[in-house]
Amino acid sequence: MLKELELQVRFGDQGYGGIYSSESLIAVLAEVETSFREAMADRKFVDQFEELLRTFAGRATPVMFAERLSDKYGRTIFLKREDLLHGGAHKTNSTIGQLLLAKYMGKTRVIAETGAGQHGVATAMTGAKLGLPVEVYMGAVDIERQRTNVKRMELFGAQVHSVASGGGILKDAINEAMRDWITNVGDTYHCFGTAAGPYPYPSMVKYFQSVIGHEARAQIIEMTGKLPTAVFACIGGGSNAVGIFSAFEDDGDVRLFGAEPAGVGNDSDRHAATLTKGSPGVFHGMHSLFLQNTEGQIANTHSIAAGLDYPGVGPELAAMRDSGRATFGAVTDEETLRAFAELSALEGIIPAFESAHALALATRTAGDLDPDAALLVCVSGRGDKDLDEYWHYLGSLSA
Ligand SMILES: *Cc1c(COP(=O)(O)O)cnc(C)c1O
Repeated sequence: MLKELELQVRFGDQGYGGIYSSESLIAVLAEVETSFREAMADRKFVDQFEELLRTFAGRATPVMFAERLSDKYGRTIFLKREDLLHGGAHKTNSTIGQLLLAKYMGKTRVIAETGAGQHGVATAMTGAKLGLPVEVYMGAVDIERQRTNVKRMELFGAQVHSVASGGGILKDAINEAMRDWITNVGDTYHCFGTAAGPYPYPSMVKYFQSVIGHEARAQIIEMTGKLPTAVFACIGGGSNAVGIFSAFEDDGDVRLFGAEPAGVGNDSDRHAATLTKGSPGVFHGMHSLFLQNTEGQIANTHSIAAGLDYPGVGPELAAMRDSGRATFGAVTDEETLRAFAELSALEGIIPAFESAHALALATRTAGDLDPDAALLVCVSGRGDKDLDEYWHYLGSLSA
């Protein structure tokens, strides 16, 4: 049974978070907040959420001792296996929660945005299960790059709208989805892909993803008799990270590490390392850290991992950076490819490029931790989707 969560409007001394949305959305955001508070306290809602997590999504996912990886790095490494979740990534936790909430609110239509297609697929899949029509906004450039995910969404009965404005990528798709919501607030729920955006989304998505940490904490204590020394997660907007961190954030001795994309590295501006290189600003309904120019125009980002290719980050992680509660490291595309190959060869698990960022940061950090340290790494998704890209990039790996 998940703990009820304290909803937070603002995070940290800088007051990250808030609601920086068009006035026409304020009423529906308040409606989402009220309904979510009711739902969290409603035994029937929580039971239904937990039942679908079990029977539709396949929870609990295991924690696995990565024996050969541990041997190689001289530290004990455990993996939280979100790659085994239905849909192939942790996103399903949040889409089940949010679409149940949409029904609870009496909404009859769901919209979402998607970059590489993973959040779109998770929303469409859950919409099919719950009988809710789903429309997905996706950049025209991304549609070209991610044909199979478009086909998946269509198979689940979703309608995919191509967004040609701006760069034709994720941030443009988010803008379009927000525009749609403004005109259709009466019957529509906006299913957001990560723990970011206007209040109450950062807290709400964290609640739905906190199941990762809730399970992992109990599992690792059962396996080792104690808490882990350090927990690692990759960071796009931050939902798998705040999800697994949630169970350890009050354990002062447990170190938290977030891995974000350094892209091609070498001081190039082709990256998406918001927490290490971003500055405070306002975008997509929240005050947080962003990659932007001095005028506040949002930068175009790059990561080999499409799910991390976002110029902002959720407000809670921004506050954790300032307070020092979590440590953030940037991982290059090249390190990601090596971690991807390494986990495949040593443990028989092909991780998503996103998750390979967390693995790369964990193995890089292992030597700095005590010899008896236990590392827990969130494997946020599986990497079958990344195979073509891997072989394509392999040529550029130095020996
Ligand atoms: C979308 C995605 C991410 C990044 O999203 P967060 O909200 O930061 O967790 C990470 N891993 C996988 C496999 C994804 O699909």
